[in-house]
Amino acid sequence: QQQWNDKRVLVLGAARSGIAAAAYLRNVGANVTINTGSEPSTEERMKIEALGINGVFGAHPLELLDTTDVIVKNPGIPYHIPLLQTALERKIPIYTEVELAYLATDAKFVAITGSNGKTTTTTLVHELLKGGSRPVHVAGNIGFPAIEVASKAKQGDIIVIELSSFQLMGVEQFHPQAAALLNLSPAHLDYHGDFESYADAKGNLFRNMTATDRVVVKGSDTEVMKRVPADLDASTFGYDSGDAHVTDGWITLHGKRVIRVEDLALGGAHNVENVLAALLLVEPFDIPAEHIDRVLRTFGGVAHRTESLGQVLGRRVYNDSKATNNVAAEAALSGFDAPIIWVCGGLERGAELDSLIPALGRVKAIISYGETAGRFQALGEAEQIPSFAVDTLDAAVPLAFEQSAPDDVILLSPACASWDQYKTFEERGEHFVRLVHAYEEANR
Ligand code: ADP
Repeated sequence: QQQWNDKRVLVLGAARSGIAAAAYLRNVGANVTINTGSEPSTEERMKIEALGINGVFGAHPLELLDTTDVIVKNPGIPYHIPLLQTALERKIPIYTEVELAYLATDAKFVAITGSNGKTTTTTLVHELLKGGSRPVHVAGNIGFPAIEVASKAKQGDIIVIELSSFQLMGVEQFHPQAAALLNLSPAHLDYHGDFESYADAKGNLFRNMTATDRVVVKGSDTEVMKRVPADLDASTFGYDSGDAHVTDGWITLHGKRVIRVEDLALGGAHNVENVLAALLLVEPFDIPAEHIDRVLRTFGGVAHRTESLGQVLGRRVYNDSKATNNVAAEAALSGFDAPIIWVCGGLERGAELDSLIPALGRVKAIISYGETAGRFQALGEAEQIPSFAVDTLDAAVPLAFEQSAPDDVILLSPACASWDQYKTFEERGEHFVRLVHAYEEANR
């Protein structure tokens, strides 16, 4: 923390984590300027004024670099902007929030990244570690900004953190005690330019780890395995094989049975992988077996991520509103061993749908709504699956129940963004949940 005293720090980005970073840095004696490319919101402006921090808004003038010793940048700001390119040329250090958080605390980090499953695994690991002897905090997407958590955590505490590829690009010293790279598939290519640089950013997670740390990877994912440094002894997970895998219907950790897959509250094969990864991550922390058992039987997932709504009129209903693209929807569709009534659709972005065909094996009916409804209906009809196009979820939910039989799965996994009818995927998911409960009430 002393290292910041009297340092001239330029914080780029005024979103929640930028303001949290600026506040922390000012408290530890830095001379802080906050800079945004666009005009900040009134709320952001008020917060910055209240902190008494110098603000430069609406552009990234290069002159700022003349009075800057260190840059702390929001992960979403790309490196190709002229200000950052010039900073790189002048060898001005560029930190991201996770690096700042790491340097701010003596707590230990458990870090999770990957293309899919980050939030679910992070939340599950947090729940599992609560059963141990050390205080545990969660940071990242679902929790508070990492720097806020880190500045409050004490030595011996554990911080579970979800990291995006953006955050990992700037990592230099960050050294988690346990870390998982869950899987890699093409994503965010607009920011990283190509798959290699995206995947390499994810691989940065491991760069400071040593042989005594816990490194967790999906053994069957060759892109993931390529990113494991040769001197690290990685623990692998996978449905069929690895240090954690499934045998005869049991989640098995180093050959020991933990719980039956059918007793997991989480649904879907992809979530089984998230469970396997989580068990390997928490293994070094000696969590009592009873606590692990209780969490695995009750943790139904994070809201909107193949979140189980339990049995509704004899059907198993899931809200996977977070599945805004094909890959996420494919994972959800492939994860069930019962007939699925698939509720999908939303914003039209012209995405091809054919890659979904292999995942339709268990789909008994397609109920699509929103801008893309007609295209999903055509996809289903071409595969001889009964398919319906309606305007809104209000019509889709009752139809889904009518098309289903007891023990079927009803799954909202839209494969589309929500913005044609909703502000956010959360709002869409909440609407779905309300409609399901209303249908249940009316048809008891
Ligand atoms: P992330 O935080 O990486 O976006 P989430 O845990 O929020 O991941 O899950 C987002 C969606 O991705 C889920 O709704 C599900 O459809 C899919 N998903 C979750 N875990 C996995 C996994 N291990 N492999 C593939 N897809 C997954």
